[in-house]
Amino acid sequence: MAADAPHLNTPSDALIRQFESVVGAANCLTDPFEQAPHLKEWRDRYTGATKAVLKPKSVDEVSRIMQLANDHRVGVVAQGGNTGLVGGQIPRPEGADVVLSLERLSKCRALDPDNQTLTVEAGCKLATAQAFANEAGLLFPLSMASEGSATIGGNIATNAGGLNVLAYGTARALTLGLEVVLADGTIWNGLGSLKKDNTGYALKELFAGSEGTLGIITAATLKLYPKPAGQATAMVALNTLQDVAHLFRAASMRLGPELTAFEFMCQHAVDFTTEHMPQTPPVFEQSLPWTVLIEVSNLTSDDQALQSLSEVLMVSDTERRLVATAIATSSNQRQAFWKVREGISEAQKFEGGSIKHDVSVAPAAIPDFIAAANQVVEDLCPGARPCPFGHFGDGNVHYNISQPSGADTGEFLDQWQTVQDAVHDVVAKFDGSISAEHGIGVMKRETLARHKDPAALTIMRRIKSSLDPNGILNPGKLL
Ligand SMILES: Cc1cc2nc3c(=O)[nH]c(=O)nc-3n(C[C@H](O)[C@H](O)[C@H](O)COP(=O)(O)OP(=O)(O)OC[C@H]3O[C@@H](n4cnc5c(N)ncnc54)[C@H](O)[C@@H]3O)c2cc1C
Repeated sequence: MAADAPHLNTPSDALIRQFESVVGAANCLTDPFEQAPHLKEWRDRYTGATKAVLKPKSVDEVSRIMQLANDHRVGVVAQGGNTGLVGGQIPRPEGADVVLSLERLSKCRALDPDNQTLTVEAGCKLATAQAFANEAGLLFPLSMASEGSATIGGNIATNAGGLNVLAYGTARALTLGLEVVLADGTIWNGLGSLKKDNTGYALKELFAGSEGTLGIITAATLKLYPKPAGQATAMVALNTLQDVAHLFRAASMRLGPELTAFEFMCQHAVDFTTEHMPQTPPVFEQSLPWTVLIEVSNLTSDDQALQSLSEVLMVSDTERRLVATAIATSSNQRQAFWKVREGISEAQKFEGGSIKHDVSVAPAAIPDFIAAANQVVEDLCPGARPCPFGHFGDGNVHYNISQPSGADTGEFLDQWQTVQDAVHDVVAKFDGSISAEHGIGVMKRETLARHKDPAALTIMRRIKSSLDPNGILNPGKLL
């Protein structure tokens, strides 16, 4: 019997041989050395154990694995690129679950430029899906720093966000259809390119964000967009978060859907990155309290995009809110701006321990939320260095806190739970979410139970037990 899910069994050797007969010996990994990359997540926070990592090549193989696991009451953990940040893709440490890696199920099934859709299998890497779209002169706008490893199945299962949500929405919004294998092996073919389909409950939306607890996503039809012909990017320095909020309002009112990125960074975030990361020289002579990366994209030309961006900056500058601006004059400079934004998490490692939060509040509430959270952190941990940054336009704050300079890292990180609970309480006061884009997994399971509306939790549990009555899908995660 497995701890934490006492109704489940550890797979017997005979069952492992049955799994092996489905996927072939080479794709049923039982050797600890071969299993190792699947059992640890990239930040080293979660380590699991398993008797087998299974790598099916077809939907039919996934279905047969699920039938066997369901019949024998064995937990199954779906895994894509293993880039998840909340431990959802790692099996439980006692070794009772099997890992179902989608990495060999990675074909492009169809690219339809007329309907602007792409159908790929779940193990297709995000960067590969972007490249398929690009070859057809189209854009698949989902984008994040993990795109070289993260898979489409994982993106949808976590309802990933990333850099372009402001203009195009999260993974859920970019998904037109899904193929899913249910807990008992039933295959639901919900692939399709319909934008309008009011035939009852929103099933594909339900599987998006379900983190491997309701079914195994095996393929998806994705929404593509025209590729922007013009782009303009600027870095803007401001003194207060109220000024950042003002600039965001002005930009979104003036630019509408042409505003494709509005990322904000605190002074620590920019200083850490320019100091520690390669190819990120300071953009401004002087380090200032807040920096915004703003990007405009359109279907006409770079000149037109530049004109739109300049107009927004000019109007805001007239009100004397902008301290300094730098508009990228080459694609190299644009990339250098993005490197500053994307290097923040990595750069923080050079500053010792970091307690992290991925939360959201209404964009207009960000200044007050950060002020309140900073106060709580200072009271609990004097001298700690809040390092908030993120997707301002989505209300998504990566509220990370670096340890006080010179403090003991272990002692600082020991306060993780206390600090996190206190910050999440502030989030609750602002009617925000304790998980904006990374999901719940194992990391936030208890926090979810504390903060989610009880009626919503009851509905979620009923959905779970009706789709997975034996509780074999990703046990110990999310709920
Ligand atoms: C450097 C870095 C930057 C990141 N930036 C962002 C960002 O900007 N925005 C963002 O949202 N996330 C970000 N992430 C988090 C991560 O990349 C995303 O959560 C991504 O969507 C996970 O995809 P994956 O294929 O790696 O999934 P995995 O990590 O393998 O799995 C994640 C979850 O999905 C489930 N799952 C995976 N595949 C399937 C499937 N086929 N069917 C059912 N369930 C499945 C797993 O069981 C697990 O619960 C970042 C991570 C890193 C390391």
